[in-house]
Amino acid sequence: MVERGPLNMRDYPTSHSAVASPPFFSDQPSSGFSSYMTTFWLDAFGRLDHKCKSSTIGGVGGDTNTKCKYRISEGYLDGHSDKGLFKKKVPIVNYEDIKPHIERIANGEPSRIISAQPITELLTSSGTSGGQPKLMPSTAEDLDRKTFFYNLLIPVMNKYVDGLDQGKGMYLLFIKPEISTPSGLMARPVLTSYYKSSNFRNRPFNPFNVYTSPDETILFFASAFLRAIKFLEDHWRELCSNIRTGCVSDWITDPSCRNAVSSFLCKPQPDLADFIEFECNGESWEGIIKKLWPRTKYIEVIVTGSMAQYIPTLEFYSGGLPLVSTMYASSECYYGINLKPLSKPSDVSYTLLPNMAYFEFLPVQKNNGKLTVQKIISPCFCHLFSGLYRYRTGDILMVTGFYNNAPQFRFVQRRNVVLSIDTDKTNEEDLLKAVTQAKLLLEPYGFLLTEYTSYADTSSIPGHYVLFWELKTRGNNDLSEPDHTIMEQCCSTVEESLDSVYRRCRRRDNSIGPLEIRIVKPGTFDALMDFCVSQGSSVNQYKTPRCIKSKEAIKILDSRVVGKVFSKKVPFWEPFKMETK
Ligand code: AMP
Repeated sequence: MVERGPLNMRDYPTSHSAVASPPFFSDQPSSGFSSYMTTFWLDAFGRLDHKCKSSTIGGVGGDTNTKCKYRISEGYLDGHSDKGLFKKKVPIVNYEDIKPHIERIANGEPSRIISAQPITELLTSSGTSGGQPKLMPSTAEDLDRKTFFYNLLIPVMNKYVDGLDQGKGMYLLFIKPEISTPSGLMARPVLTSYYKSSNFRNRPFNPFNVYTSPDETILFFASAFLRAIKFLEDHWRELCSNIRTGCVSDWITDPSCRNAVSSFLCKPQPDLADFIEFECNGESWEGIIKKLWPRTKYIEVIVTGSMAQYIPTLEFYSGGLPLVSTMYASSECYYGINLKPLSKPSDVSYTLLPNMAYFEFLPVQKNNGKLTVQKIISPCFCHLFSGLYRYRTGDILMVTGFYNNAPQFRFVQRRNVVLSIDTDKTNEEDLLKAVTQAKLLLEPYGFLLTEYTSYADTSSIPGHYVLFWELKTRGNNDLSEPDHTIMEQCCSTVEESLDSVYRRCRRRDNSIGPLEIRIVKPGTFDALMDFCVSQGSSVNQYKTPRCIKSKEAIKILDSRVVGKVFSKKVPFWEPFKMETK
């Protein structure tokens, strides 16, 4: 299996060397958001102009017959390189706008209908369109840019963590099967693409990047990392037995994987097996990573955005190791790098890499149309080299500062992830905050919330929010469940923490029923992930959906429910009052 993953435990003695500032960042000072908008566009504009001309040539076959707004047809800039003209002439598009073009390319039409460069593959994102994964065009040059991006991570880490050139990093990397399209172009997740590429496979030796595992046996988000720990929890006895005997289990049948692992297990190692058995058989798995790999320096795992909810569980297993979110990336484009990798997860800002794409930001409206954090929260638009011009990415970012002239931002959320019964609109961030408040009630009793999702149950009138919670106890073999009264308090706390519109609907309008928490059996969210993967998601790009719409997925969760609790209290709400001066 291969795909770069969440686990990068570096296990080295010391020696320090400094990283050079990335050469492409301009060192001109910047004075704020609006200056960024201007400067950044101007910096990039020479290339943008060139690209647009290329697209003009390539776009002769552009679609003029469909209603699709997205059309790179001849001469839309007419040789001009004016930013305003570009924005005027080129529409902002969503995936649905370009989907027909991408499908035409997948069906064998030439790349030039959207891109000046040959499209070399289609990347399948975790987002879906009409139930199918979205397909993002990519080019050979894109792959080179990603390689550059990965190479940049090493000097950045080296600046903050000593001794990375002595020892090994343990990476859990997954690949997913590819789909061949009628055109012969492969469709696959972005990480599968990278880890199967010759850029990765033929990488030159680099002492800073020595992996514990061979490529043949080759995760990303925190959820996938924790899944790997769970796998170890379930299979450590077998692992010890393999190490003790020096033989790989029979069920591992993939020949190259068997050969590669056999080369490690060349002889019985009873002492190592005893050591692992002793640690894994302990009373609790708290700090297990440090116990098994005592010289680990950090864990590379994305814990920003919705992944933040995994931090307590990761801290539980890691025994306080730094959790490093190195990058912000997507199938469409790799956007930003974390230049202060040891900062606390809540403080992580990513620095935009201007060579990856052309970026454009728009302010977001929040709170009934009022711009609460004017100019700093923005959904991102980017212009990629592979045909996604003025493509709306759907993420919401908060600008936090600048690295020279490159903007830095915090990942806030994915747009439009909402639970809604009446006029309430709960997004992913609101839900995370409310759940974070409620789960605090469980911690004194030794319970950790390991996973959650939700759905709006409208089968009853009024409808109500349902949360599925998977819990874990601090002790190893303790299968007890929290007290009913505490769970009722958790329901009420979630409700109290949701926004004013939700609470108004609950209290004044009675248009939303009491919130329900359904506790599910351990392993339920693995079953959900298996289901999503079977529907086309990539394991290492998989993120637990925070709101479930698929009936099949709800069925999977419902069939594993071990307890249901409803909120007993109506949350507090009072009409908005204007303060009089
Ligand atoms: P995919 O195209 O399936 O790889 O998903 C990309 C999406 O994952 C992005 O648009 C973000 O919503 C999310 N994502 C990627 N990197 C991060 C990060 N560092 N922190 C939070 N969310 C992220």
